[in-house]
Amino acid sequence: EGDSEAVRVAILPTPGMGHLIPLGELAKLLVSHHSISVTFITFAEPVSKAQKAFLDALPPTITSLQLPPVSLADLPSDTHIETRMSIATDRSLPAVRTILHTLQQSTRLIAFIVDLFATDTFTVSKELGIPSFLFFPSNLFSLSLLLHLPELDASTTCDYRDLPEPLQLPGCVPVLGSDLLHPMRDRSNDGYKWMVHHARRYRDADAILVNTFRDIEPETAKIINEEDNKWPPVYLVGPLIQSDSPDIEIVNCLSWLDKQPKESVLYVSFGSGGTLTCAQMNELACGLEMSGQRFLWVVRSPSDAKCDANYFDSMSVDDPVEFLPEGFVERTKEVGLLVPSWAPQLQVLAHIATGGFLSHCGWNSTLESVMHGVPMIAWPLYAEQRMNAVMLTEEVKVALRPVVAADGIYKSEKIAKVVKALMEGEEGKKVREKAKELQEGGTRALMEDGESCKVITELTNRWRSTIT
Ligand code: UDP
Repeated sequence: EGDSEAVRVAILPTPGMGHLIPLGELAKLLVSHHSISVTFITFAEPVSKAQKAFLDALPPTITSLQLPPVSLADLPSDTHIETRMSIATDRSLPAVRTILHTLQQSTRLIAFIVDLFATDTFTVSKELGIPSFLFFPSNLFSLSLLLHLPELDASTTCDYRDLPEPLQLPGCVPVLGSDLLHPMRDRSNDGYKWMVHHARRYRDADAILVNTFRDIEPETAKIINEEDNKWPPVYLVGPLIQSDSPDIEIVNCLSWLDKQPKESVLYVSFGSGGTLTCAQMNELACGLEMSGQRFLWVVRSPSDAKCDANYFDSMSVDDPVEFLPEGFVERTKEVGLLVPSWAPQLQVLAHIATGGFLSHCGWNSTLESVMHGVPMIAWPLYAEQRMNAVMLTEEVKVALRPVVAADGIYKSEKIAKVVKALMEGEEGKKVREKAKELQEGGTRALMEDGESCKVITELTNRWRSTIT
């Protein structure tokens, strides 16, 4: 029975829309262009509304199997996201093994793909003899850091933020120790130890697939496969961006956009989980108002404790509007629209009225922005977002950055200034041109004779050849 079935690939994303969305797009490509069936293996918890809507909208040739719930109740409440996901993966290994083994027995399983915090599953997939791949949902810059991390960890004695010089990774923009991945801020935290662990395990993959494209980081792309074969081959499979946003919008922002002039609206969003502090949210509101520009703001309740407070659910508990300055909604009603918690981002970025994106620099958001020729304001919060911000402003030059005050806060005047510069100024023109240029490069990579398309065909051909 197994023989008559199409070949199958199993994909295991760790929780979070930023992981699920690009892997979902990869799955759709495998199904539609390569006649491959896909099984998603998902964690039982937490399942956000956005995640459920996304999984439900996948075509029927993409099935999903849920792992049994694992309890993380024993972990302290301040445990980092990275640690949570890694431990959830480890506690799920017996179940992953059973699922993979069953798929292997009943279907023609040709590959297993996991994302960056699930590398311990390689232990079971390799034991079962299944070709195993890492999908890296960010760029070559961060991947390069992780590929060098085992050596960097051994050779660095101080905290990274105390490094006297910026770190110079081959082919990458120099980056300050304080701008490195969020878990690298505190070497004694388990989150850091997990990153080093995963970085080592990346080398166990048969190949690494990265959601980026050559034109956005040409120097790094040139060099990444040339370093002494310390790691598996790296393939550029991007830009894989969502083909449509999960339909859970509460306010119809698209009809509002229809009424706004061309490229006049600044879209403001901090991704699926980003939150601001109360003070910072207040400055942002005042800054937007002061700029006089039109804006569409996906607003979440602030959190003074964590900048990733909504990572797992994307939803505010309280009404976020309550936290805005007195009278703000009334005063800005002619130019601004507030959308609580979640917006159909792709449609917003594709809309002719959208002229800029104030973004937390999540990599999916970045790709979606450049693929629609929309320039950005970089406002990083966590994960690898500070590195992305450095790269986007200093190297790619597709984003502007507000000046930060000594206390680490972006003040309203500086926010207003950078918003005006992006929407009306000369600097804005330059980054807009760059965004349009990248849009062309990214579109080319996805065409039949483009790099991404060719690479995926090459990979799938290789997978098939292992089974027939
Ligand atoms: N997203 C969306 N609506 C929102 C917020 C996010 O559709 O209101 C989507 C966004 O388009 C992107 C993903 O969720 O595809 C967020 O991924 P990203 O890497 O930008 O950031 P993360 O959420 O992982 O921090």
